[in-house]
Amino acid sequence: MNSEKRHIAILGSTGSIGTQALEVIREQKNRFMVEVLTSNNRIDLLIQQAIEFQPDAVVIGDVTKYEALKSALADHPIKVYAGADALEQVVQMDQIDMVLTALVGYAGLRPTLAAIRAGKHIALANKETLVVAGELVTALAKQKSVNIYPVDSEHSAIFQCLAGEWHNPIEKIYLTASGGPFRGKSREYLANVTKEQALKHPNWDMGAKITIDSASLMNKGLEVIEAKWLFGLQPEQIDVIVHPQSIIHSIVQFCDGSMKAQMGLPDMKLPIQYAIGYPERLSATFPRFDFFNYPSLTFEKPDTSTFRNLALALEAMKRGGNAPCIINAANEVAVAAFLQDRLGFLEMTNMIEECLERTSFVAHPTLDDYIATDAETRRIANDWIVA
Ligand code: NDP
Ligand code: MG
Repeated sequence: MNSEKRHIAILGSTGSIGTQALEVIREQKNRFMVEVLTSNNRIDLLIQQAIEFQPDAVVIGDVTKYEALKSALADHPIKVYAGADALEQVVQMDQIDMVLTALVGYAGLRPTLAAIRAGKHIALANKETLVVAGELVTALAKQKSVNIYPVDSEHSAIFQCLAGEWHNPIEKIYLTASGGPFRGKSREYLANVTKEQALKHPNWDMGAKITIDSASLMNKGLEVIEAKWLFGLQPEQIDVIVHPQSIIHSIVQFCDGSMKAQMGLPDMKLPIQYAIGYPERLSATFPRFDFFNYPSLTFEKPDTSTFRNLALALEAMKRGGNAPCIINAANEVAVAAFLQDRLGFLEMTNMIEECLERTSFVAHPTLDDYIATDAETRRIANDWIVA
């Protein structure tokens, strides 16, 4: 990075990734300037962040909170907007160099496309955007010469292993997975697990949706699809390995059989900083790994017959077209219903499978097709829950 500051918009600044990104920026004030902060409805934290970081603009998703936000920031030179359309507008502002997409779910798709269309580089945490419309998003990024820097720890690991190797053929990548809180458990056990159990991840402290996805291994399925698009791989080039200690964040195997792995303590601040600071590594005081606290690093095969969400996501990737978009929408409805105690843990999988079979398949979807697929799947999913 040159001596000038990088100007960043953070979509979803009040979430787990968003707040950690602001922690990084607070430590690297001479490197970054925050231009935009957004939240869906957590207004108090957004106000606090806006007062500290003095962005050019803030956006709140919930339009009913607009007046309260505006009056709280009345003494500051900060523009205040509300609603989903405003997200698509603010990312286009001239002074923005990079947009960190740290909002959760399908809601990230349109603002990410708007940012790419405006030529902004993307630091991508919102994996759902690539799962839903990876082909469209990566083609647009290529057309606009926009780089997509991965924030997801596994993809950051792959990206770090590829530095200096851009033209060397990849034979395979191994995405590591912790296995989540239910690793080794049976289907009988999973049938009765509660949201409180599912929300206790052994190694990572994350937002609710991705924590449930990690418990069901859907997260790893979404990440395989994310990796396919980010690194231009064929499905058979991506393997998942369960590595319960979460120290090796992923591995690249090159055409000569040599493997490179990226390691470190599980702390999302590191991949966030690498993505927003690329190509530089910025000095940081993150806790260092101690070999003797981890005398053994272990590896297991994922159990896809117990954790069928992973198998379903891989199946959707193989079918291609809008199938991953279907899986994503069904999963978003399933996770929300599980968190409201309206659906059991294993019922989530049954419902997602039914959506994959019943939603109309489109082999070469346009943006309108993805939007229609998302809506159709959500209808089918909600009907399934009510029935
Ligand atoms: P959180 O739920 O903690 O935060 C989500 C953020 O997005 C919040 O700021 C939230 O606002 C906002 N938001 C939620 N829904 C909408 C919406 N419909 N429109 C606009 N804004 C919205 O999520 P995480 O930070 O855990 O995850 C963010 C993304 O990063 C996800 O795609 C996840 O898969 C990915 N990721 C996360 C990791 C982690 O460690 N957390 C690791 C790797 C990837 P509000 O606070 O008001 O609700
Ligand atoms: Mg990950």
